[in-house]
Formats: sequence, C-alpha cells, structure tokens
Amino acid sequence: MEFRCIDECSDCCVQREYYPTKEFGKIGVLILPEEKEKIEKLAESKKIKIKILPRIGISENRNETPSKILAYQLMGIEENGNTCPFLDTKSGKKSSHGGYPCKIYDNKPLACSAYPLIENEPIALDQKCKFCKECGTADKNLEFETESLLKIKEMMQTNATHVWRYATGVGEEKDCKIIKTGWILEEGI
Ligand code: SF4
Ligand code: SF4
Repeated sequence: MEFRCIDECSDCCVQREYYPTKEFGKIGVLILPEEKEKIEKLAESKKIKIKILPRIGISENRNETPSKILAYQLMGIEENGNTCPFLDTKSGKKSSHGGYPCKIYDNKPLACSAYPLIENEPIALDQKCKFCKECGTADKNLEFETESLLKIKEMMQTNATHVWRYATGVGEEKDCKIIKTGWILEEGI
C-alpha cells in the first residue's frame, strides 16, 4: 500500500510522546547538530521563539557527563510539551493534504522528512501516525522518508560505550512528580 497523509491531519506536528519512558519527559523533534544553527536562524528570521534541548550525548567515561552531543530536540510550545513552534495554527492556511502548514516546510528537520518511517530494513512505520491507525501500514511512496532516515542513521552512528539521554522535564501536570530533568546514562540509543 502507498503511504499518504490523512486529510487534515497534523498529529505528528502536535502530539508529543514520553520517550523512552515517562521518567524522561516528552521528547521534541530530533535535530542533528548540523541542523541546529539553521533551525535557530530560521526561528530568528521568522521571530518565532524556540527551545532546543540536548537529546542524545556520548562520553568516554561513565562518570562524566557527555563530551559530545549526537542529537538535540526542538521542544513543543505548550506546557505539556505538545505543538511544534513552527506549526502555523493561526493563519488559516493549509498544508497540501489540508492540515496545518509548517512555517519552515522547505527547510524542516530531517526527522520531519523521515516521519512516519522509523525503520527502513524492513520497513516499519510509527503506529502513532494517523495513517497507520486508519490504514495499517504502507510499503510504497516512502522514498523521500527512506532517504531522510538513512541520513539520520549515518549522522548518528557512534561506537561510544557510554550513551546518555536527556530527560526533558516536560509533560502533563499529573505526571510532574515522576518526570526528571537532565542527563541519564543509557546502555544504547
Ligand atoms: S505523517 Fe501521519 S501523523 Fe503526520 S500528518 Fe501525515 S498522517 Fe498525520
Ligand atoms: S518543523 Fe514543521 S514539519 Fe517539523 S514538526 Fe514542526 S511544524 Fe511539523
């Protein structure tokens, strides 16, 4: 089946999830180090306030905090972590499939171009994508998503033994007691 966005859907630009667990808080859009400055400049030129936090870091020693950051994340604008700051929810304009448009569509992060593809070999789509909820899965019309996912994988390759994930401290009010903030050591990405 061919992948195509569901009419009027903007879910992937609005909904943010706890990942990998609630303790880590809600994640933002993955931003590669190579993309960070470009995204910051785009926000500045469009007078959009953004918050970018670290996401994945690596270190030589497990007793140190990360010496290198492999990925950052662009946080949502709502208190609960939802809604990308670049999503145009106010002007009344529509995206090509009738959802809210992206204000930086031609320069959006690779992670946005890859979505909903989360694995290319074999193909796996994020089951939270509305297309998957309504149609199951797809294996065609995913060339652009595959290319973007492969670039992300290539740029995030690491042999580091100590991988850290940043807990964002962001989430629903009812979860605030268990959500942490700061670097947490993991065994793998
Ligand atoms: S990728 Fe999925 S969640 Fe995002 S707009 Fe398209 S159908 Fe909706
Ligand atoms: S940068 Fe654009 S495509 Fe990516 S989440 Fe934000 S609004 Fe959506």
